[in-house]
Amino acid sequence: MKALVLTYHSHNISGAAYGENDHVSLAEDLETITREGGRIVPLADIAGALREGRIDGEGELWVGLSFDDGPRFDAHDFEHRDFGPQRGFLNILRDFRDRHGTQAQPRLHATSFVIASPEARAAMQAADECGYPDVPGWLADDWWRDAADSGLLEIGNHSWDHVHPVVARTAVASPERGDFRVVTTYPDADAEIRRAGVFIAERIGRPCRLFAYPHGHVNEYLPHDYLPHRAYEHEMEAAFGASGGWVEGTSSIWNIPRVVCGHDWKTADGLASLLRGEPPRDECAGETRGDGSEADLAPGEPPGGQARVESDGRAVEGG
Ligand SMILES: [Zn+2]
Repeated sequence: MKALVLTYHSHNISGAAYGENDHVSLAEDLETITREGGRIVPLADIAGALREGRIDGEGELWVGLSFDDGPRFDAHDFEHRDFGPQRGFLNILRDFRDRHGTQAQPRLHATSFVIASPEARAAMQAADECGYPDVPGWLADDWWRDAADSGLLEIGNHSWDHVHPVVARTAVASPERGDFRVVTTYPDADAEIRRAGVFIAERIGRPCRLFAYPHGHVNEYLPHDYLPHRAYEHEMEAAFGASGGWVEGTSSIWNIPRVVCGHDWKTADGLASLLRGEPPRDECAGETRGDGSEADLAPGEPPGGQARVESDGRAVEGG
């Protein structure tokens, strides 16, 4: 089978049109994926197929959906101060199901990768540069369990504190911020990944088993040493990067590629081309992907210096 994992950010809203607003893009993309014959499946199923050697680039097209950073907009509708009412991502999935019936996408599902640390989330919530200081609790964790109970969303691990620039004290030894590649030691990885998984699992009342690298930043240590060798401790079963492109049979279970809305495709036609395996039609798609590992944005630190989701300064980051 073929497998492609798509990534959206529910805080990415700089307008009301496709490409400016991931809520608009996601709703349209569900139609495009279905029209192109893609079967939406849980990320864990793609990881399982990869582990079992069933991804060979032929036949059935599996599409995974992932949402990063864990704003409550992943689940709940809200009123944007400039662009009005926005449908929560989870409700966009439900709307699709109501419109087409359960058989159109029988395994419809997405994974929200959330940031664990309450202190880190509080700092980001209040920070102007993260975009929503006027929305109380926009990074709260009170929606996680209900969303997981819906059966349409899994809650995944997006690290303890994202090594985020606005967090006063991060869990890692390095003073550097906005770069998850600084996680190069066991104590740092334990604090950023295992501890986050434990916290999230307690909150949702079920295992937390999937990890997504903040900023899509992957180094040598995490996928080659810590994640494979300490699985009995951190209990993650797979990790997702943001390197762009298809999941290949040779992809590492600890660095499964993802493509990012607004970055790897910018129009509905661009996604259709991507799903068909054609070169991107979007002139600009992928142009800002610097070293191939960075699809994720930190405030004030867009990849390649190009505006993407952060055009209005609203993004926590992009992955
Ligand atoms: Zn992120």
